[in-house]
Amino acid sequence: MRILSGMRPTGKLHIGHLSVLQNWVRLQAENKCFFFVADWHALTTAYDETRELRQNVREIVADWLAVGVDPERSTIFVQSHILEHAELHLLFSMFTPLSWLERVPTYKDQVRQLGEQGKDVRTYGFLGYPLLQAADILIYRADAVPVGEDQLPHIELCREIARRFNHLYDAVFPEPQALLAETAFVPGIDGRKMSKSYGNVISLDVGPEELGRLVRLMITDPARIHKTDPGHPEVCTVYAYHTIYSPTAVPEVEARCRGGKIGCVACKALLSEALEQMLAPIRAKRAEIMARPGYVEEVIAAGDARAREEARATMALVREAMRI
Ligand code: SF4
Repeated sequence: MRILSGMRPTGKLHIGHLSVLQNWVRLQAENKCFFFVADWHALTTAYDETRELRQNVREIVADWLAVGVDPERSTIFVQSHILEHAELHLLFSMFTPLSWLERVPTYKDQVRQLGEQGKDVRTYGFLGYPLLQAADILIYRADAVPVGEDQLPHIELCREIARRFNHLYDAVFPEPQALLAETAFVPGIDGRKMSKSYGNVISLDVGPEELGRLVRLMITDPARIHKTDPGHPEVCTVYAYHTIYSPTAVPEVEARCRGGKIGCVACKALLSEALEQMLAPIRAKRAEIMARPGYVEEVIAAGDARAREEARATMALVREAMRI
């Protein structure tokens, strides 16, 4: 299958992104994968915060490579380097009813939520970003797109756009399927959603000392004062992490916590060890990548060239179909 997926360059990635990336690594083994940095999408909400955009693009690609996305197998590129995405987006905008975009379930909620955070996204770009996303997917004539459940309406819109184009002009586009990826929900160290704006993230390249400090800060069962107090792991962030990152330790941790047989300090030390084992090779590979001058740029340039060739081939079909 031809598979496409992307991420916005919002800074260094954190362990909440890891399951998505591990899924990419699995997919690239048997499919033709296109992975792109969605820098134009970042502008739909952060249009006034571009100072670090280029650096963020570099950082995110380094993170992908460190986790195992392989530039020999997968096409890694930057959205804004392939101008054909913008052309296809423009052409789609000619025949997309405004109501299709306005009815995307998350649209009004996001406008309100971001408005409450002081960000005015009542812009043309923000309303149209699912259409840009459709162009990103269809320009590579992707068969499938790995997504979380919240993205399903966007894939449905993309399929509608493909159908409408094929009906109005010529059958150029396949209707891509959503590949529902099983991604673990990783809370931030304070138990809320992991987000840089909350200052509660564990970044993928965190060093061992900082990792230990962050784990020590994690919120546990507030009812436990002494080691012998019976604990309630279901309300504990450390326990949530154990279930994701050290599942074999879970039965013992749970039993000892409920029985008041392990203190939170010792329980956190176990978790730190498990996280360190997982993150150490990623950190080492990332350091190696960043130590090679120009390497990330080379990877992007090679991916851009492959993506451009594919995008140009599709646009030739599109222009022919539309008689442009
Ligand atoms: S012992 Fe572990 S699971 Fe239980 S409350 Fe403390 S940190 Fe959480």
